[in-house]
Amino acid sequence: MLNARPPDAVRYVLAPDALRVLPHAAEGLRRLAARGFALVVITNQRGVATGRMTAADLDRIHAALEAALARAGVRLDALEVCPHDDGACGCRKPAPGMLLRAADRLGLDLARSVLVGDDPRDLEAGRRAGVPLRVLLRSDGDLRAAVARVEALLDARAPGAGPTCGGGEAADDVLAVEVDPAWSGARA
Ligand SMILES: [Zn+2]
Repeated sequence: MLNARPPDAVRYVLAPDALRVLPHAAEGLRRLAARGFALVVITNQRGVATGRMTAADLDRIHAALEAALARAGVRLDALEVCPHDDGACGCRKPAPGMLLRAADRLGLDLARSVLVGDDPRDLEAGRRAGVPLRVLLRSDGDLRAAVARVEALLDARAPGAGPTCGGGEAADDVLAVEVDPAWSGARA
């Protein structure tokens, strides 16, 4: 089984009623889940440390997020939050702490995981955690475009696979794809 962590595939705001799930994010997540990836969101929430919101606010937002995703048929395997201020912990991205924590708790193999983020710090966190395939998506970009790149890379391992592209998906929403030489894409 492969493990995915699409951090920031879903945007957060300061109150649950302002939360919105990005268009097509749920479909992208469903496609990753169908490939056998566990779905983990990792998110920096420094607003808790700075007093912009409370931990209870954050809990309500996450509950709303999970409810919105559930309505779209998506269940997150984990949602990891760093509520700390800059330099105060080992988990605020670009530190790898949240990835390591989720992997440990869920028994995920980071070497067979995929990271999708919308900030270079996300990719750095993935690199430092040993996630060998990392996709940088434009903020507010279509998650399906990132998922299409992941699918193409996985399918390219199949014999006789031709070139793949994202079809009607917004391919230029993908700003960068980093693949470590050691990445095999192989399933267990
Ligand atoms: Zn932290």
